[in-house]
Amino acid sequence: MFTCYLCEKETVYTRYFCSDCNELKRILAVYGASECKDILRRVCIRGEEQRNYKISAELKKEIESRGDETYFKKKKSNSV
Ligand SMILES: [Zn+2]
Repeated sequence: MFTCYLCEKETVYTRYFCSDCNELKRILAVYGASECKDILRRVCIRGEEQRNYKISAELKKEIESRGDETYFKKKKSNSV
């Protein structure tokens, strides 16, 4: 019984990689590590501007789900 060499979380018995990491390994073999790394950086790693946009969108969604803007007004008055 060992721990997966890649994620270091899943337990493996007869292989080095768990099933998820084995799939990742096959994808890396098909597309190449460089292209996969580039895609992950562009898609998964967000810059500060992108994070702020996401936070604003989530706040707007929460306000809309409440049906009023009291939450947003309260947040603004607390930050001043
Ligand atoms: Zn794994």
